[in-house]
Amino acid sequence: AELTMDKLVALCKNRGFIFAGSEIYGGLANTWDYGPLGVEFKNNVKKAWWQKFVQESKYNTGLDCAILMNREVWVASGHVGGFNDPLMDCKACKARFRADKLIEDFTQGAETGDGWSNAELEKFIAEHDIVCPVCGKKDFTGIRQFNLMFKTFAGVNEDSANEIYLRPETAQGIFVNFQNAMRTTRKKLPAGIAQIGKSFRNEITPGNFIFRVREFEQMELEFFCKPGEDLEWFNYWRGFCRDWLLSLGIKEESLRLRDHEPEKLAFYSKATTDFEFLFPFGWGELWGVADRTDYDLTQHQEHSGKSMEYLDPVTNERYIPYCIEPSLGVDRMVLAFLCNAYEEEELEGGDVRTVLHLHPALAPYKAAVLPLQKNKLGGLASEIHAELCKYFPVEYDETGSIGKRYRRQDEIGTPFSICVDFETEETQTVTIRDRDTMQQERVPISEIRKYIEDRMRF
Ligand code: ATP
Repeated sequence: AELTMDKLVALCKNRGFIFAGSEIYGGLANTWDYGPLGVEFKNNVKKAWWQKFVQESKYNTGLDCAILMNREVWVASGHVGGFNDPLMDCKACKARFRADKLIEDFTQGAETGDGWSNAELEKFIAEHDIVCPVCGKKDFTGIRQFNLMFKTFAGVNEDSANEIYLRPETAQGIFVNFQNAMRTTRKKLPAGIAQIGKSFRNEITPGNFIFRVREFEQMELEFFCKPGEDLEWFNYWRGFCRDWLLSLGIKEESLRLRDHEPEKLAFYSKATTDFEFLFPFGWGELWGVADRTDYDLTQHQEHSGKSMEYLDPVTNERYIPYCIEPSLGVDRMVLAFLCNAYEEEELEGGDVRTVLHLHPALAPYKAAVLPLQKNKLGGLASEIHAELCKYFPVEYDETGSIGKRYRRQDEIGTPFSICVDFETEETQTVTIRDRDTMQQERVPISEIRKYIEDRMRF
């Protein structure tokens, strides 16, 4: 059976991955809370990224910057002037749309491009059979540009001098700390700086569960290199990102890399590739990898008056580095991993089991300890559980038939079920059932931890 968003949302809600935000007060549209399993899962996604992009990388280090930044940062970055979406209202029913999105829906996902002018958008809407999807009428207001940054006030006075923004991306915190990071790590270029954190965008059309929300997390790398070597590094990171996804089980047929045509590139970019994933609602952007040239550092040098130059210690050359940026949304990645892992598997005898084939590195629980019989084996099973919990999250479940308990673990993606049975005490062994093959193996208690940790590697 095919995965629908309704099924996935229901599973997330029922099993504690993701709940509707502020639910007991009737909710707040398009906000979502990660539940007991969701927080583990999302943390694992971030850990897996950090492990490959920072911990194991000989080039990269990390940062964790403030969400609130000096207003001038967003002037320099271009967000105050240009981080806009074209907005349009239906005069008849007052529904509100992103003009480019309406055209995109009409043309079944055809590129509307980043650079359409209001006049071009209006002309396209006038010339084609585009109507309000809510009331069906064709009576729109003119197009206005709507800035997506959330505004708030710092301090007690709500006047414009105190007006600041919630960051709409994490990248700028990295650019403004470029010299700090280079100086303190004593790294030579090429070198990258990575950050994971919340970003906020006042999206006009949020939706599709956690795909497009107003508060989300990003995992961004800004990789700095010598001008002229940038396209080589662009290709390196493009390949690296792809390998990361595949190594964690993303299916090749659900992934496509869309290279932007040179004429469609943003003015500061030399190359851009959108990684797209096939969600139940269609292809959607997951990861943007871009060669941003020296645009950002140059902007900050001009606006701050502080040098963003790098002095090559070998050649004594001075230059503003070029920057390659792979930018990934945590929540979109979470959604893609869930969609990718979901299966309703038909078993022999006609039974169906729902299973999440999550990579062991990502699964919320790495294992579940299940005593075959509660009264006689519960004590020993609890001991095994308590010991394993020191190393990774492990579930303990002693209620219901063993078959039902296996199914519960399948549905939340637990890769290994450890059954404590009547042979365990005598032989000091347990059986370990593999979620995907449903095969069981007898393993000495002393080797369970290694058995699982070996399989968490990627
Ligand atoms: P889109 O075209 O979907 O709005 P974008 O091109 O504006 O995305 P970027 O600015 O390149 O996105 O942001 C980098 C990444 O951050 C995206 O690839 C996506 O994974 C994530 N992201 C951006 N906006 C959102 C959002 N509103 N909700 C969740 N994730 C987001």
